[in-house]
Amino acid sequence: MVERIERSARREKAVDDDAPRQRPAAKPKSAHRPAETPSRNAVQAKPAFNRKSIALVYDFDGTLSPKPMQEYTVLPKLGVDPHEFWAESNRIAQKEGADSLITYMHLMYKKAKAAGVRIDRDDLVDLGRAVELFDGVETWFDDIEEYVRIRSERAGIEVRHYLISSGLIEIIEGTRIFPRFHNVFASEYWFEAYDLPYPKRVITDTGKTQYLFRINKGVEDLGQSINQHMPEGERPVPFSQMIYFGDGDTDVPSMTVMRKNGGYAIAVHPPRKNKEKCVDLLRAGRIDFFAVADYRRGSELFRRTTRLLDRIIADIQLQEEMWHFRRGIEKSK
Ligand SMILES: [Mg+2]
Repeated sequence: MVERIERSARREKAVDDDAPRQRPAAKPKSAHRPAETPSRNAVQAKPAFNRKSIALVYDFDGTLSPKPMQEYTVLPKLGVDPHEFWAESNRIAQKEGADSLITYMHLMYKKAKAAGVRIDRDDLVDLGRAVELFDGVETWFDDIEEYVRIRSERAGIEVRHYLISSGLIEIIEGTRIFPRFHNVFASEYWFEAYDLPYPKRVITDTGKTQYLFRINKGVEDLGQSINQHMPEGERPVPFSQMIYFGDGDTDVPSMTVMRKNGGYAIAVHPPRKNKEKCVDLLRAGRIDFFAVADYRRGSELFRRTTRLLDRIIADIQLQEEMWHFRRGIEKSK
């Protein structure tokens, strides 16, 4: 046990030393400080309008990737049929009245142990390389950022991408898009708990909404409480500058929080599949629009997302103008 803990501690250190960008959840760039506006006259440190960040927040399974991430990684390694695995996990959760996410996280390692397969943190990260992404996901981040840069005439509007997933952060770390996120909030294991890994953090459907408020309030350090009151006007990323991307029922609490607070929600579905689910979400007022999960430039998803971005950019520019106008009036009093 001691050996395992030491090894794990060394690994954590190695990760920190070698690749600081590899664990954004541990060191969010923006915790506790509002986004700053780049200023050419920084010498004078003039107060500046600083609510110029746009947050695009994504679910992972079914939204950026066609299948649940476990089906590309741990389940094939264990030779377990995904359909049977999820059926068994749901059966246990129902019978025991257990949380379905904790149940699958436990069952996965129970099966690994039974099969005599050891899967450590590094193994999960390695397995993450096999996760498939929808068309265009890898180029989406650059394309969207370029669009905003040009459209806002380089007025210092920043786009941040966030991931909030019930899946495993260890697997997400292994995917090619991991470094593209400003922060990643996902379920995670302790790897030094007795003989089986133990859930360290479990992000349920409703639990996801906490992270939307963390982005909104700029409180991304998970060691900090999110419940402190913060007036709307002081929140660094207003909901009206946030867009949530999801694919189904598990995203309903997040979509609801977004839209009730003036933000936007988009649903995606695989080509020729699950469109009815999106129609239901639209009719129920959960989303602004839906599209096929095709993230390539020029797709319907790209076009509709950029229409929303046009509106958000115009809104930020208007607010900035009003902010300077009011300051001018106050100063001339
Ligand atoms: Mg999903």
